[in-house]
Amino acid sequence: MGLMSIRSLVSRALQLPSQCAVCRSWPSQRLCRHCRDSFAAAKARCPRCALVLTGASAAPQCPQCLRSPLPLTACFAAVDYAYPWSELLARYKFEQDTGLSGPLVDLLMHAPGVGPALAALERLDWLLPMPLSQQRLAERGYNQAWELCRLLHRRSQCRAAVSARLLLRLRHTEAQSQLPHAARQINVRGAFIVDPLAAGQLRGRQVMLVDDVMTTGATLAAAANAVLEAGALSVSALVIARTPP
Ligand SMILES: [Zn+2]
Ligand SMILES: [Zn+2]
Repeated sequence: MGLMSIRSLVSRALQLPSQCAVCRSWPSQRLCRHCRDSFAAAKARCPRCALVLTGASAAPQCPQCLRSPLPLTACFAAVDYAYPWSELLARYKFEQDTGLSGPLVDLLMHAPGVGPALAALERLDWLLPMPLSQQRLAERGYNQAWELCRLLHRRSQCRAAVSARLLLRLRHTEAQSQLPHAARQINVRGAFIVDPLAAGQLRGRQVMLVDDVMTTGATLAAAANAVLEAGALSVSALVIARTPP
């Protein structure tokens, strides 16, 4: 048994199954309704990159997207990557607490700003998770974006198809969080490919990418470009948390 598995067993043993992962109240669901609603207030976000729009400016997009927009037709985020979601997402991703899939999808489906994304699910052809490289998938044992993607698909009962085999990640790139903005774009360029045997399934289709966290958007942009190069009509994105400015 690997170190990760032992750690996750210990952390699960310390975690009461009927305790809220945020406020620790119990008996409760893993994410109590109070925490879900009180830490997920509605915010005005840039429609192209989901960044919180700050200041009194009535600009419809953030300054970054006015200069050089991401290759996304729309981008939706449930919450900012901040307390308590940053802790919860770290536990979900790095401590193998896959029991958080349900609460996180619940958060996604109830967040005020995500309504339009859920409505868009009806018009979509594909819901695709951001892929991990084979190496990282082997280390972690699961792709957190795929867990979120297929649970969202099941609960929303959308007509779009889901697949973790269309969009592939070729390279195990250096952790994006270690790099400055410009280096992130170079780091992920060419990191994604659509399976050449399946590319026809994306031609002329509307695709939404799903991920847990969006930092600068460089990784999502690289993935979106690969999907567009395969002939997709449009690519949008849906994430749980967006790193604030
Ligand atoms: Zn709570
Ligand atoms: Zn923007």
